[in-house]
Amino acid sequence: MKIAVFVKQVPDSAAKLSVDNGTVNWGDAPLVINPWDEYAVEAALQLAEKHNGEVAAISLGDENAKEALKHALAMGAASATLVSDPALAKADAAAAARVFAAAVQKLGGVDLAIFGKQAIDSDTGLAPAMTARVLGWPALSMVAAIPSLDAGSIKVERAIEEGRQIVEGKLPAVLSIVKDFAEPRYPSFMGIRKASKAEIPVWSLGDLGISAPDSKVSWAEISAPPARDVTSEMVTGANADEIAAKLADLIIAEGVL
Ligand SMILES: Cc1cc2nc3c(=O)[nH]c(=O)nc-3n(C[C@H](O)[C@H](O)[C@H](O)COP(=O)(O)OP(=O)(O)OC[C@H]3O[C@@H](n4cnc5c(N)ncnc54)[C@H](O)[C@@H]3O)c2cc1C
Repeated sequence: MKIAVFVKQVPDSAAKLSVDNGTVNWGDAPLVINPWDEYAVEAALQLAEKHNGEVAAISLGDENAKEALKHALAMGAASATLVSDPALAKADAAAAARVFAAAVQKLGGVDLAIFGKQAIDSDTGLAPAMTARVLGWPALSMVAAIPSLDAGSIKVERAIEEGRQIVEGKLPAVLSIVKDFAEPRYPSFMGIRKASKAEIPVWSLGDLGISAPDSKVSWAEISAPPARDVTSEMVTGANADEIAAKLADLIIAEGVL
């Protein structure tokens, strides 16, 4: 079984973001693998272990995105490829999906293309469904468990607000994974060593055999939310009952309840 897993390099969720002249900045905060993509890698690895498969990690971005790929390699992915091309600057979700689909096709023989549920920077959650549309494959989103998988079909449990939904689809398919699937494993020491030495190939649009896809969406404006005036007060007391009573009085006085 051949599994492609998509990982994005994003600013750390703890980074302090600012918007300067319409550009988002996170200072010198580190870039990290998109946290939701660690769940996707975990799912890919578990499926590969169970079904004698191989995991190929793919990222679209600049040289920095190699770090996300190294994280996937350190977790256990067999290979990693960066897709990078200056013509993809300002690529919107539809354009990115065409590139993701072309990368899956260039890998060849992929049974499952696995995504995280969303990227914590752009936050659209569109990539899995749009990529499935371009490939013409079933899109099984918000997957929390995979009760069965065989050579031709897959049955998944989708996490939806009302509970779980069981869905079946044919292979090849696109999945997006939610955190209920399983806690991502820590990279092993051997994995980190292997990843640090890995040569990561870079595919351009030419290598993928496509020209720069059209972007239909443009960012008209980006602004930071107005700063909120927040004050805080520490509630103290001799014991939990006294603290709780003071807290209840404060909540009532503030009109929260
Ligand atoms: C007008 C516009 C201009 C943009 N310009 C740029 C730009 O110049 N440079 C830029 O980097 N982005 C740019 N983007 C963002 C880029 O198009 C999105 O990152 C991409 O469409 C995926 O959407 P998302 O980040 O919301 O991912 P989601 O759909 O929320 O992500 C779902 C999953 O898709 C996978 N995924 C998403 N993005 C990547 C990726 N890059 N590599 C590997 N896997 C991925 C991950 O598994 C992720 O968990 C732009 C977007 C718009 C709308």
